[in-house]
Amino acid sequence: MSTESSKRSQKSEVRSQNKRTAAIFYITDNGFKLAQEIRKLYPDARVFKFKADAVSKSWGENNALIFLMASGIVVRTIAPLIKDKKTDPAVVVLDEKGRYAVSLLSGHLGGANGLAKEIAAFLKGEAVITTASDVQGKVSLDLWAKDNDLYIEDFEKLKKLSSKIVNGKKIKVWPDHTIKVPDEFITVDSAKGAELIISHKLVKSNALFLRPKTLITGIGCNRGTSAAEIENTIKKVLLKEKLSFHSIRNLATIDIKKDEKGLTGFAGENKLDIKFFSKEELNSAVSTFDLARSKTVEAATGAMAVAEPAALLSAGSDKLLVPKQKIGNVTVAVAIRKSEVRSQKSEKQNPSLVTRHPSLFIVGTGPGNIEHITPSAQEAIRRSDVIVGYGTYLDLVPELIKGKEVVSTGMTKEVDRCRKAVELALQGKTVAVISGGDPGIYAMAGLVFEMIRAEEQKSKRAKETPPCSSPCQGEDRRGQTSALLRFGTSALSVEVIPGISALNACAARLGAPLMHDFASISLSDRLTPWEVIEKRLEAAAAADFVIALYNPKSKGRQEHINRAQEIILKHRSPDTPVGIVKGAMRENEEIVITDLKNMLSHDIDMQTTVIIGNSKTFVWNNRIITPRGYEKKIQ
Ligand code: SAH
Repeated sequence: MSTESSKRSQKSEVRSQNKRTAAIFYITDNGFKLAQEIRKLYPDARVFKFKADAVSKSWGENNALIFLMASGIVVRTIAPLIKDKKTDPAVVVLDEKGRYAVSLLSGHLGGANGLAKEIAAFLKGEAVITTASDVQGKVSLDLWAKDNDLYIEDFEKLKKLSSKIVNGKKIKVWPDHTIKVPDEFITVDSAKGAELIISHKLVKSNALFLRPKTLITGIGCNRGTSAAEIENTIKKVLLKEKLSFHSIRNLATIDIKKDEKGLTGFAGENKLDIKFFSKEELNSAVSTFDLARSKTVEAATGAMAVAEPAALLSAGSDKLLVPKQKIGNVTVAVAIRKSEVRSQKSEKQNPSLVTRHPSLFIVGTGPGNIEHITPSAQEAIRRSDVIVGYGTYLDLVPELIKGKEVVSTGMTKEVDRCRKAVELALQGKTVAVISGGDPGIYAMAGLVFEMIRAEEQKSKRAKETPPCSSPCQGEDRRGQTSALLRFGTSALSVEVIPGISALNACAARLGAPLMHDFASISLSDRLTPWEVIEKRLEAAAAADFVIALYNPKSKGRQEHINRAQEIILKHRSPDTPVGIVKGAMRENEEIVITDLKNMLSHDIDMQTTVIIGNSKTFVWNNRIITPRGYEKKIQ
């Protein structure tokens, strides 16, 4: 999981990918109503009353423009703004009743076809798609390239091949690694004679090149090296090694270079992420892979080497494609991403492997209503092929998961769900594990990490032990090697997307009870012994923390809340304000403001969170407020 440590210091993957930012324009009252409806699907979309200058402003700022009006108005307004299908936003037009969603511009690369289909499905209308490949049910080359994260080198050649496809002909393709290709392609076994080449290698050919994002470039440089020198050196090394610059997935270096202007400038100009590693991580990779060490580098940075270990760590690989090369102030080393190495090796075993980096999102969907799911969480769900979660939470987000593969098991089967999610991600699918509230608070995030860690340890042990004939470590009960062990967990990119937890939602409903130090305690003893829970209740009550009680009562645990009240009453006045919120931000929401002595006369269940004030907490105008000490300042 070494790649993860750097990712955390980077922009989140969800955000750095083309996130949909939508603007909706309406003219009539019906249009306005429809805009509000569509916002349920894209809650972060902005809604504007139609005006030509608002449209021109949005053109550069949003990547999806949705118009609820006659298409003539739209065509006249956007005509002077249209530039290029690589950069123009998706434009979708709907009639004000939402019966038809017309994909007007940037159907493929801009995503208007997908957007029109998504909206039409949501409104139960019809998507109007006019791009030939879609009408004929044939693959669209540009979209296929985009979906597979392939850089298109020449749009003129792409156009020619696309028209060949829509005219019913097949195109000859040579991929240099395993990739699932559509029916319209015939795979040939060398670059010669191919019309389409999918490779990070520079080979002589008139074919169209699609460049997979497979290369990780490790960089070391002296302080103050310019962006131009870094760029020239990388290009020189890649050219010499016959590798495409467009196949660079990301750069990798030591964390003390976070403020290296030349490096960040070069990365920014070329829209490349930089993964940063600490000197400890780099040194451990130098020892593990027995890499060359430099005394000068060590004196300057504390790391025995930078470019080579950084490239390997970020690639999740154990072999360099290009060992380090130093030119002037810059050192460059290149590694291939592990998932690609894997797919090259395992071609025969598993022909359906795609080159996409396995991704697992652990997503918090907030307390209930779709409006309280963050845009990042929505995006992660939209981008996922498979959604894994508990039924109740899935029911709260029906629009977002429509049409996706859903893996759902009962509440107590978290471990099964989690294992399934990791397995599917390792098969190359993008998977979202969904939890209500925040995924890291009494939910799935910890379990996912614990499971990956355990599997990693198992895998290490299995490597150390010689093969055995009967089921042994790394094999499941049926004697099959688990996907985790076959592929290794370091190839997996895991990202936690936070959500609004019950305590945030309930506190907001009650007023401001959590303004001062608070403790959250779950009364569920399913995984924690009851004695430990009592101890924590006692300590939090004695220390005058505001206390948020999660899982306060279930059918099998009616008594715990009584015991909690008893313990807290030992330290706090019976008049202490207590807020009881059931189903916060859901349709069945109920809010009760009471006090410690009376709290048990109200309905408390598993959808409820109880917040108990501290010695200073007061009730005012039906709100619970815990003062923080501003009193003197406002009087
Ligand atoms: N990950 C969740 C917590 C899961 S534990 C989060 O961050 O919110 C489940 C408990 O959370 C429930 O028993 C209840 O105490 C609380 N809870 C979850 N959703 C809630 C809601 N909408 N209103 C009130 N309490 C809620």
